[in-house]
Amino acid sequence: MSRARIQITGIVQGVGFRPFIYQLAIGSRLCGFVANNSSGVEIEVEGDEEKIEDFIGEIKSNPPPLARITSITVDFIPLNSDSSFVIKESIVQEERTALISPDIAICSDCLRELFDPSDRRYGYPFINCTNCGPRYTIIKDIPYDRKFTSMDSFKMCPACQREYEDPSNRRFHAQPNACWECGPRVFLVDGKGNELVGVDPVKETISLLKKGAVIAIKGLGGFHLAVDATNDEAVLALRRRKLREEKPLAIMSADCRKAEEFAVIEPEERGLLESPQHPIVLVRKREGNRISPYVAPRNPCFGLLLPYTPLHHLILQGDFLALVMTSGNLSEEPICIYNKEALERLAGIADYFLLHNRDIYLRTDDSVVRLVERKPLMVRRSRGYVPQPILLPMELKQVLACGAEAKNTICLTKGNRAFLSQHIGELENLESLSFFEESIAHLTRILQIEPELIAYDLHPDYLSTKYALSCQGKRLYGVQHHHAHIASCLAENRVEDSVLGIALDGSGYGLDGKIWGGEVLVADLRRTRRVGHFRYIPLPGGAAAVREPWRMALSYLYAAYGAEYTDLKLSLLSRIPERTRQIIVKMIQQEINSPLTSSCGRLFDAVAALVGLRDYIRFEGQAAMELEATISSEEEGYYPISLEQEGELTIFSPLPMIRRIVEDINKGELPGVISAKFHNSLVQLFADFCLKLREETGMEKVAFSGGVFQNMYLLTHLTSRLEQLGFQVYTHSQIPPNDGGLALGQAVIASYGADK
Ligand code: ZN
Ligand code: ZN
Ligand code: FE
Repeated sequence: MSRARIQITGIVQGVGFRPFIYQLAIGSRLCGFVANNSSGVEIEVEGDEEKIEDFIGEIKSNPPPLARITSITVDFIPLNSDSSFVIKESIVQEERTALISPDIAICSDCLRELFDPSDRRYGYPFINCTNCGPRYTIIKDIPYDRKFTSMDSFKMCPACQREYEDPSNRRFHAQPNACWECGPRVFLVDGKGNELVGVDPVKETISLLKKGAVIAIKGLGGFHLAVDATNDEAVLALRRRKLREEKPLAIMSADCRKAEEFAVIEPEERGLLESPQHPIVLVRKREGNRISPYVAPRNPCFGLLLPYTPLHHLILQGDFLALVMTSGNLSEEPICIYNKEALERLAGIADYFLLHNRDIYLRTDDSVVRLVERKPLMVRRSRGYVPQPILLPMELKQVLACGAEAKNTICLTKGNRAFLSQHIGELENLESLSFFEESIAHLTRILQIEPELIAYDLHPDYLSTKYALSCQGKRLYGVQHHHAHIASCLAENRVEDSVLGIALDGSGYGLDGKIWGGEVLVADLRRTRRVGHFRYIPLPGGAAAVREPWRMALSYLYAAYGAEYTDLKLSLLSRIPERTRQIIVKMIQQEINSPLTSSCGRLFDAVAALVGLRDYIRFEGQAAMELEATISSEEEGYYPISLEQEGELTIFSPLPMIRRIVEDINKGELPGVISAKFHNSLVQLFADFCLKLREETGMEKVAFSGGVFQNMYLLTHLTSRLEQLGFQVYTHSQIPPNDGGLALGQAVIASYGADK
């Protein structure tokens, strides 16, 4: 006989951990107790020593699906001769460090009940249990208890209450527990807010979708706008009304079997689609599919997701091949969450609104993931992942990092945990700014973090920077954009050493006041030194040059050929009127509204315009995405990019490459071949430069970050080339390489740097 005290930390509260332990102990005939405490769950068990070992083994290998165990410590203690096993009420006041679970897709047990005509919750759109359902999005305050959630206004009926109190029931302490009798309900209203009475709201929604209507559907983390994805007219109407011209729309299909009709789904992709997080996964289109071509024009992929709430499952009973499920907002504004807000903001977009009366407290968009060489690459980390912390190898101060301007997220740190917020979006309007402020207030409250330090980007015009600078009485710490990118990659990979950091993105404020974006840094979590970058090039018109890639093409042509560029035989020059070109060249010559940039993203834009793919973009990154999509993968050639030394700095000049691209265009080379050679040139450049740096410094660890590393071709080819050369390569997987991951790097750098 032995007695063991077992302390478990991680996400172990509010995820069915105590009932799981209870049943396990009863099954193994062990006595003792389980209870929540300030750092997680505490267990004492008494019985046969071998059985205790098996019991611990089972906890480690088979925990409840939502639990994330970060540590288990076991001490053997004197016997206490208990006669039973019990779930004790919390021994001490539950401290607020206990982690909160993200929102979780409906589980298979609940799904079975949902479609079982003999079940008392048959067809109930809010069925959930300890293993599934809303969490983060309904929490007002902590501890995670019904009275601190938006379920507060629903009083459980006796049947639900019994389940809630029974440790052997799978709804024991399931805070959102509800049924037809006592829980939230759905209802359908027209565009004016009048309820359609006397109809089954779900069946009516299905029939309206079949007729081509645009329906706003209230979900878990916000509203979606839905249309039948096979109906061209409906998809076009949605695009027109939402002011979303070409950016791909996410689609939801009932299950993978159905989705296989229009997409190729690899086993790992299926695993992700069906995971408790249920993110949007980018999957390859199947040729000749029946999805409307307007869903994802000129894109080889669909953004696919599977139904994750009971309501989604009920709607997809309508036998749709797929539904467009795009976030319920006007382009670039935050997603709607309140009924009244949706009726106002989505008026004129949605024909009908499928509403419910359970409030959403914190808007949370769908997450987006792509698989690269079978490993997940996060594009947008939001619902299902937030607020799960990134575990760091070191203890940090309590920091609030304010993130960037685009794809904003914020980050809060405490101990060895970094909490990256959900996707907040483009911080460019009042709605987004108030969502940003709300998120900071909400997260600091539920995580009980009082930041002593505030980290921000050096860009003086970012709203996130302005917010940081307005915080009274806090220590502030500015972090250079690309250093933050590299540090975010190091932090998630738990690397504390100094590395060669390759940071490639669209733009970030540089230490010399110029717009950086094609940078090689020697960096660790404290310091950074810029060692190489793309040659500065004028960005004629500033933001206009970002929207109009032809301007970048012209800027590069002018840099490579001077005024003689007009003699070139290029279709680009005939597409853009001479007058217009002269104005741009004048702007470059006279340095009018033409800031200098070393951006790698803009180099992609220039090449995309040169080969005739795209002169104007409708959404960020579009030209680069299309350039990647045209690659003919057999091509192994590359173009020269020259290295020029300027003191300590190496400048990468793409001008020789631009001249060779022009020659190739004149030879009639296909865009796919030129694109492949362009991508290969970047691989060659960074491989060569890393070799040079290794000779000089002996460093052999390389980290990649920045939005350009969402480019699969560049990411995989550069990784394998550097690995062949013996480098250790670190890339992102838990957080996005784009600005959505920036705040993590800011937080870590500030925490370290503030010690100096
Ligand atoms: Zn469930
Ligand atoms: Zn009930
Ligand atoms: Fe960036």
